[in-house]
Amino acid sequence: MTAPSATALLASVFGFPSFRPGQEEIVRAVLAGQNALAIMPTGGGKSLCFQLPALCREGVTVVISPLIALMRDQVRALRAAGVEAGALTSGNTDAETEEVFAALDEGRMKLLYMAPERLASGATLGLLRRIGTSAIAVDEAHCVSQWGHDFRPDYLRIGELRRALDVPLAAFTATADEETRAEIVTRLFDGQPPEIFLRGFDRPNIHLAFAAKDKPREQILRFADARRGQSGIVYCGTRAKTETLAQALREARHAACHYHGGMDPEGRREVEARFQRDDGLIVVATVAFGMGIDKPDIRWVAHADLPKSIESYYQEIGRGGRDGAPAETLTLYGPDDIRYRRTQIDEGLAPPERKAADHGRLNALLGLAEATACRRQRLLAYFGETAEPCGNCDLCDTPPDVFDATEPVRKALSAILRTQETFGAGHLIDILTGTATDKVRERGHDGLPTFGVGRDLSRPQWQALFRQMMGHDLVRPDAERHGALRMTDIARPILRGEAQITLRRDTVARAQSRPVAKA
Ligand code: ADP
Ligand code: ZN
Repeated sequence: MTAPSATALLASVFGFPSFRPGQEEIVRAVLAGQNALAIMPTGGGKSLCFQLPALCREGVTVVISPLIALMRDQVRALRAAGVEAGALTSGNTDAETEEVFAALDEGRMKLLYMAPERLASGATLGLLRRIGTSAIAVDEAHCVSQWGHDFRPDYLRIGELRRALDVPLAAFTATADEETRAEIVTRLFDGQPPEIFLRGFDRPNIHLAFAAKDKPREQILRFADARRGQSGIVYCGTRAKTETLAQALREARHAACHYHGGMDPEGRREVEARFQRDDGLIVVATVAFGMGIDKPDIRWVAHADLPKSIESYYQEIGRGGRDGAPAETLTLYGPDDIRYRRTQIDEGLAPPERKAADHGRLNALLGLAEATACRRQRLLAYFGETAEPCGNCDLCDTPPDVFDATEPVRKALSAILRTQETFGAGHLIDILTGTATDKVRERGHDGLPTFGVGRDLSRPQWQALFRQMMGHDLVRPDAERHGALRMTDIARPILRGEAQITLRRDTVARAQSRPVAKA
């Protein structure tokens, strides 16, 4: 099975829009049948790195894991996602064990979890041979280290098992110290170095920057002009846009082509090959341009539209600067993006819990977009790493001016509530700024106590404020009511005067200094 189908399974089986940092490289190596040792922080998403390849491969992947509870959790989650998985542990009921053997006998099983103690039994090797074991995954691989605090003597048998079965082995751990790593290599791989993946989430050479959308085509052209002759990617939200933007770049004398899932395979391969081979080509693409790309010297990545989650964002900018040399990024976002991404989630077919999780991932990205201090710190914090301010993001370059926005936010929230959460930002701003449009008069909104209470801010300032409110998830556009804004629970304490909110003044001020047509 090819790489793109791994991406398809990522969405269809696991429900993730994209890989987490580091996962893509590991999955690729495991799929290729390489021996691998991956060191990832806890919560980084290790299990996916062996579960996904297991689904793409013939035969059974045997997973050695030290904790029964962990195995049972994973098996339950896999089965809920429709994957044939089972565990042989001392915690099984007889019925469970019978079910596992039935699935093995019928050749249905994809992932067989096993406690290391099983390896002590002579019958286990015979069983694993008979069922067609095609790969071994070892979770918490540091348990093989006799010096570590989690030493499990039975882990020492895994190396022997690998030799006997002669199948690829992928080992995973969060413990990164060098001694433990060396010991894992010795004991699991007979000292033959596997491919080692050791990377925190940080990619310090990638400069991070966001900008509010304002004539986005010009913004992207300016960004590309400043990097003329360098290889870059522009990600767009729609197929049509990749074509028009690539055209605009060509008109500005850039070497640019478009790439999306609607193109025939041959056309896509051609772009991939050209990008890989040429220097200074710009590919304007949808997210379909992804896993197959392995170009180390991509110097910049721009998002003409907001990605759908913080994971997608990280993955897409992470295609830049793989050689370690500086790479630049720019991500544009505006209220339309937020509305579009929310609607996409709401109107999708995913079950409610997954929709909630997707909103959460989008919120994390919007929080990053509206951050008031170092973006990298915030990004890494999301993935569970702590860091100092990076000195390599737009907010470290130019710290933003912030202000206590509690009062205008309360005015906006009250305008939303007084109009029964049935209007979009444009109408609400008319009310706040005391603009008696026909629609305002027809609804009698010029008689509301909130009418005109926000005259101290201009329309563009209010637009920036509403965008930031959406970014902080204080208000959400209602997909079923044409983007009518609803207040979320996060906003309630602010409205009640129990919490304050700080927003960025610069985006508000910049909005003011620019003549903007009335929405
Ligand atoms: P680890 O074993 O590394 O501590 P897990 O494999 O349990 O981490 O994954 C941690 C969390 O990350 C899980 O809740 C999992 O659902 C989530 N996760 C894993 N991969 C992704 C992904 N590509 N996108 C979003 N969430 C993911
Ligand atoms: Zn920074």
